[in-house]
Amino acid sequence: IEEKFDAIVVGAGMAGNAAALTMAEGGMKVLQLERGEYSGSKNVQGAILYADMLEKLLPDFREDAPLERHLVEQRFWMMDDRSHTGLHYRSEDFNEDKPNRYTIIRAQFDKWFSQKVREAGATVLCETTVTDLARDSDGKVIGVRTDRRDGEIHADIVVLAEGVNGMLGTRAGLRERPKPEKVALAVKEMHFLPREIIEARFNLKSDEGVVIEAVGTISRGMTGMGFIYANKECISLGIGCLVADFQRTGETPYGLLDRFKRHPSVAPLIEGSEVKEYSAHLIPEGGFKAIPQLYGNGWVVIGDAAQLNNTIHREGSNLAMTSGRIAAEAILRIKSRNQPMIPQYLALYKKMLDESFVIKDLRKYKDMPALMHTRSQNFFLTYPQLVSKAMQNFLRVDGTPKIEKEKLTLRSFTSARSRRGLFGDAFRLARAWR
Ligand code: FAD
Repeated sequence: IEEKFDAIVVGAGMAGNAAALTMAEGGMKVLQLERGEYSGSKNVQGAILYADMLEKLLPDFREDAPLERHLVEQRFWMMDDRSHTGLHYRSEDFNEDKPNRYTIIRAQFDKWFSQKVREAGATVLCETTVTDLARDSDGKVIGVRTDRRDGEIHADIVVLAEGVNGMLGTRAGLRERPKPEKVALAVKEMHFLPREIIEARFNLKSDEGVVIEAVGTISRGMTGMGFIYANKECISLGIGCLVADFQRTGETPYGLLDRFKRHPSVAPLIEGSEVKEYSAHLIPEGGFKAIPQLYGNGWVVIGDAAQLNNTIHREGSNLAMTSGRIAAEAILRIKSRNQPMIPQYLALYKKMLDESFVIKDLRKYKDMPALMHTRSQNFFLTYPQLVSKAMQNFLRVDGTPKIEKEKLTLRSFTSARSRRGLFGDAFRLARAWR
């Protein structure tokens, strides 16, 4: 490609598509490069789509987007090896005209999103890997090099949307490689079953959906979580833990997934299903403190590549879309003032992001990742086991006076963690949560 573009976007995931769409709609000449065969072919997500953030980009998305089920129920399970204690919320209010959350299948969804980017006027080139950034003699990024022949392409601004494992930014020295204690490795399977069986097993009608998030002995004391999401004709099921914990324990992701599937609370949900897809992907878990430099001379970074992921609330794609949109809006503003794409002006992107929910939420939980990592044995193993024991003690009617049962439960907590330990954990959790 000989011509020069206003902007090059590297990656066609949620962040890259949001940025390319916004800039193209704003009249910029945009080139988007994606290494996958098509947008979405490399991408993995649970996946919950948060409608609000997509609506800001494509207000009428419900008309033709490939959506699975709208969520009416959320279940949170605390598990030991034989039981789970659940917190469920279900509301008829979620059966609304414009539902707030949906399950999606990323491969289909990203393809659709990419079509919208093309319709907005951007040039989208798949099967093209960006191998390096092109710079001028002052070190300003002026474009990219790709694995295609004659692969140097120039633009006023390069938007890095290459995802959590993007090598480009790290190789170019724009940010560090994510450390093992700051990324989780998740594995996921798609279990296919007839629609009516899924609806009966999850207590759903028509397009209603439910998601289950699970913590406990399933992660063997590592910082991690399991998930089960109901789609129309399949169930997405997976588990992820910090890479540092896998290194420390020698546990394997597929070993965890296997045990999760065989758990007595999970096995009946997927019984008789056919597994048609297996995938693995990293998730940024470092939170606010892991966010790298977000802009520089001729470049900005968005989405997972910028570690913008709220793991406490299991939100990533919405932060990706929002950071993509905000970066694009900042770039459009700078361009409309005929200013160059240099740090002095690109700082506007960070300022706008700081004012959004993205940074406000990540800042709120800035101490959570370290707490969850350093106390993983307590939060992901000891407490779920104690809660399970307490529930069983509470529910089993065996002639033991209730006062004795309460003492027993209290004793099991204090002998496992001591009063000081319990108060310490509660205090640390409350402080990190506020
Ligand atoms: P990605 O979606 O990873 O896209 C990056 C793109 O860049 C890819 O298409 C890749 O092929 C391309 N690329 C990389 N390098 C190059 C290169 N050099 N040249 C060209 N192209 C390149 N978030 C939610 O909101 N809800 C959920 O339910 C949820 N569940 C999740 C479950 C799992 C198992 C995982 C792994 C993640 C989950 N997330 C969830 C997080 C969410 O998937 C991410 O936050 C989101 O996909 C980030 O979007 P992105 O565009 O930044 O990166």
